[in-house]
Amino acid sequence: MASKITFIGAGNMASAIIGGLIDSGVAPTDLTATAPKNSELAPVKERLGINTHTDNNAAISSADVVVLAVKPQIMRAVCEDLRDTVQQQRPLVISIAAGLDAATIDQWLGGNNALVRCMPNTPSLVGYGASGLYANAAVSDAQRDIATQLMEAAGIVEWVEEESLLDAVTAVSGSAPAYFFLMFEAMEEAAVKLGLPADTARRLAIQTALGAATMALRSDKDPATLKQNVMSPGGTTERAIQHMEEAQLRTIIDDAMKACAKRAQEMA
Ligand code: NAD
Repeated sequence: MASKITFIGAGNMASAIIGGLIDSGVAPTDLTATAPKNSELAPVKERLGINTHTDNNAAISSADVVVLAVKPQIMRAVCEDLRDTVQQQRPLVISIAAGLDAATIDQWLGGNNALVRCMPNTPSLVGYGASGLYANAAVSDAQRDIATQLMEAAGIVEWVEEESLLDAVTAVSGSAPAYFFLMFEAMEEAAVKLGLPADTARRLAIQTALGAATMALRSDKDPATLKQNVMSPGGTTERAIQHMEEAQLRTIIDDAMKACAKRAQEMA
């Protein structure tokens, strides 16, 4: 990716993406990150060898891509401060902030910007992220490719063609790591009741999830078939799955994801 990329914000998400970009061969000298204090930037500079800046406008003055990676609450102030430089420079702007729509950010930046909105999730921090991306009409195909490459540094990328679908992305991946953590908690608690030590139960449950996810990723069979393959008639797995179906687990997941998407819509 022969682009100069500036990250506004050098926190968890920005560091994760920057780390992935460097691992994928991007030159650290093409990357810049900003934060209000040099003391916050020192660890990033030392660990990743990128350029750092405490002045956001100076940091984007030669950037092809600007990634907005600050907390949503301060996004307006950050964008309005960058407006003149962005209007002059016309970089591709990528926002990873939760709950702020593309039109609002574009307006804060003075309008008519090529803007990609990204909904990442926390596994991006370990390179296993799943991000949903939406581009406004000003984004070119070449800029889409850049956004794809950039977010693929932290995991997989799926594009949606309507911004409202990012609410569904929030429900299926943005918020979803917590669903699996809940499942781990519940499985550990149940296994302890069955007599296993908690740490043994936790390791077995988490490794099983990793194994199931890896099988599902590598297989050409759909999840329903993979599930069926583990269920011998009259066997143990069949009994457990029967119980989950009777207890309406699917309805619970459906309701939970609808509630999640509705909340995302309310927050945008
Ligand atoms: P973080 O708090 O770790 O990082 C925020 C960074 O912004 C810090 O480095 C801070 O110093 C810097 N900052 C503060 N004020 C600034 C300013 N005026 N100019 C430049 N930098 C400034 O936050 P994070 O977890 O990395 O989240 C960043 C964004 O990613 C948020 O908008 C959040 O909604 C979004 N996001 C995060 C996750 C997640 O799982 N962490 C998931 C989805 C979306």
